Amino acid sequence: MILSFFGGKVLTVTNEYYDIYQLPKSIGNTYFWVMEFFKDKFSEVFETIFESVSEGIIVVNTNQKIATVNGAAAEMFGYEHNELVGLPLDTLIPKDYRKQHKGHVSKFMEHSDKRKMGKGRDLYGARKDGTSFPVEAGLNPFMVEGRRYVMAIVTDITDRKNYTENLERTVRERTSQLTEALEKEKDLNELKTKFLSLVSHEFKTPLSGILTSATLIGKYTETVQQQKREKHLRTIQNKVKYLNNIINDFLSIERLESGKVNYKFSSFPLSKVINEVIYDANTHLKEGQKILYPEQIDAIEIDFDEKILVLVLTNLVNNAVKYSPEHTEVAVKVIPRDKELDIAVIDQGIGIPNEEQKFIFNRYFRAANVLTNQGTGIGLNIVKSHLQNLGGSITFSSEEGKGSIFTITIPTP
Ligand code: ADP
Repeated sequence: MILSFFGGKVLTVTNEYYDIYQLPKSIGNTYFWVMEFFKDKFSEVFETIFESVSEGIIVVNTNQKIATVNGAAAEMFGYEHNELVGLPLDTLIPKDYRKQHKGHVSKFMEHSDKRKMGKGRDLYGARKDGTSFPVEAGLNPFMVEGRRYVMAIVTDITDRKNYTENLERTVRERTSQLTEALEKEKDLNELKTKFLSLVSHEFKTPLSGILTSATLIGKYTETVQQQKREKHLRTIQNKVKYLNNIINDFLSIERLESGKVNYKFSSFPLSKVINEVIYDANTHLKEGQKILYPEQIDAIEIDFDEKILVLVLTNLVNNAVKYSPEHTEVAVKVIPRDKELDIAVIDQGIGIPNEEQKFIFNRYFRAANVLTNQGTGIGLNIVKSHLQNLGGSITFSSEEGKGSIFTITIPTP
């Protein structure tokens, strides 16, 4: 059944959708009586209902002009109660949606049925002040004296949308935090697995070397064999240092991953660090290898994390030595520049194959031409992370069979 009304006045009571005469007689009679009562009072009852609902009600004719609105609709769109009557419906639609909307309304007028508006689309209303807001609308077609009208029941869903959007944002944030945590967990697990496989491969050779040297030292009992003893002691020291470096690298990764690195800045002479690094590297030079000190660095004072600079340069100089043949030179050069300082480690070694250069800072990556050398593929990755964290950077150029130049840049005050 449909009650047709307009402008607060009852026009017709029809049985378009509901035939009361098909109801059982007793119900039909009561129903009819109730309807008769409402018919008398309808003007008043309708006005009360129309104005007291919290949803906005907008009635539009076939020309898409606003025929009437209730107070809630006027307030929702920022108008005075009667300001909207006679205006095109477009007035309440944001500019960008008007064209599209007009088409939808015309279609709806042609095949009108009762339904929710904008299925699968976001709907927006335009306030008088030009701002727009999300709405939900139900469309109800009806006829008054042979003319078609559509009554839209409009709800402002700003709060619901904000709530949903906030909820979605929170879910997105939590999901990404969880993914990150899982990624970290995965990385740590991978690290443990790598460490175990490394222990079984990388530790075996130096450990058996240490054992051999220690056994031999035990056999050199005579005073004249002091030189031999010293040689084996140096071997032991180098191998222990090597193992210690691997462990330190692993701990570094763990700390970098979990964000637990605490950098300590201090002021120190650059020459102190360079001397320390070259002195250490000199202990494992190959036959005829030489490390050239940088020139004129005595006056250079820098403000950086000293331990990290030692770690970085040790990695670069050790690599240069490790990946260069006997009788070659490794040069360390310092180039002070405005607010920056470059330190380059230049070798005449095996170089890095062109096609593999892009992977060189990836963790665990080792080029195909070094697989017979000992190594973990961790050093450069750690070096790069530390430098990035400290506002520095690392670059390199290399030619296979000719040599490599690794250059770090650190900020200077
Ligand atoms: P590791 O030396 O333990 O393998 P690094 O992270 O220090 O690990 O280096 C990664 C890879 O980069 C090395 O395995 C090697 O392939 C390449 N590389 C680094 N430095 C040099 C160098 N000076 N000359 C040639 N190749 C180098």
